[in-house]
Amino acid sequence: MREEGCRYCNQFLELDVSDDGNLELGIYDDDYEYRLYATFDDGINQTWYTETLINYCPMCGRKLEVAE
Ligand SMILES: [Zn+2]
Repeated sequence: MREEGCRYCNQFLELDVSDDGNLELGIYDDDYEYRLYATFDDGINQTWYTETLINYCPMCGRKLEVAE
């Protein structure tokens, strides 16, 4: 059976969304929930960080459920 989802929700790869690579998006598994985070890091300082609870992968739309 083929695993559903994409590399961002299965392997939690970071996604560079800016040309210079300073702005990154990613998903992480926080035990009982999934969060999408965005961070701005110029390589010297992390100047900005935000995260939000998500139920679906924003990249492929897969419903994110934590296996019991
Ligand atoms: Zn996905």
